[in-house]
Amino acid sequence: MLTLAGVLGDPVAHSRSPAMHNAAFEALGLDWRYVKLPVPPELFAETVRALPELGYRGANVTIPHKEAALAVADSASDAARAIGAANTLTFADGEVQADNTDAAGFLAALPRSPAGMGALVLGAGGAARAVAWALDRAGARVSVWNRTPERAAALAADLGVASVEAPVAAELVVNATSVGLRSEDSIDDLPLAWIDPPAIAVELVYGRHETPFGAWAAIGASEVVDGLEVLVRQGALAFEAWTGQEPPLDVMRRAARASSSP
Ligand code: NAP
Repeated sequence: MLTLAGVLGDPVAHSRSPAMHNAAFEALGLDWRYVKLPVPPELFAETVRALPELGYRGANVTIPHKEAALAVADSASDAARAIGAANTLTFADGEVQADNTDAAGFLAALPRSPAGMGALVLGAGGAARAVAWALDRAGARVSVWNRTPERAAALAADLGVASVEAPVAAELVVNATSVGLRSEDSIDDLPLAWIDPPAIAVELVYGRHETPFGAWAAIGASEVVDGLEVLVRQGALAFEAWTGQEPPLDVMRRAARASSSP
């Protein structure tokens, strides 16, 4: 029998997750399909509740539903609870189970453990929160910078990490802002002229063009992890939770990179 999974978002047309997961199902010979589930906020909770009976085993959750996904769940992982948001729902044992694979997926995308490293996180939105929590748990010394400093201070106080009003040099720097999503974005939107590029630079933004942060890091000979690798890693963890199978990472990577939606 066909089993379903999907991505809940508003909008969701841009998502590369269907290409990535459907390629993985096909590679493993699983009779599964992954679909886009555009749903407005007012219909989110009832849609989630209806999915298991329609044959869904799981769903990814994207903007603007990640907090609502945690609220609707019957149980939640430590990561989802601490971050205050869920990007992965699993329908099992009659329950809606919430997890946040953005955190573990981010760590899995790093070339080595961040334990003991100084880490600078740029941004104070949902992605920054998942990354700062993951890095702190993995033993890095985390500082958070944000354009609106009050949000960085609030995030840092909540997670027990540091906030900075001017960026500090670090071995690992993560762009968890949305700078780079729009073609008019510039490196001047980020306060990086003051610091040397780090040993490892992680860009969360992904698209078809090189981002200002990626270009800055490449000039400094940083090891660069791009947003598609982080996307693949968070998706691979969701795939494993739903299917119980080892995710075919190379297949997922190829499909995510080849997918050019919208
Ligand atoms: P969000 O909650 O909307 O937060 C956006 C952040 O970007 C805020 O800190 C905001 O600062 C900052 N920002 C926006 N425009 C800026 C500008 N012109 N200059 C400086 N800072 C600016 O978004 P999010 O959910 O955290 O996502 C952030 C990015 O990560 C998005 O591009 C998203 O696509 C990407 N992401 C990627 C993955 C992946 O798997 N690769 C996963 C999750 C998210 P203020 O507080 O000052 O407004």
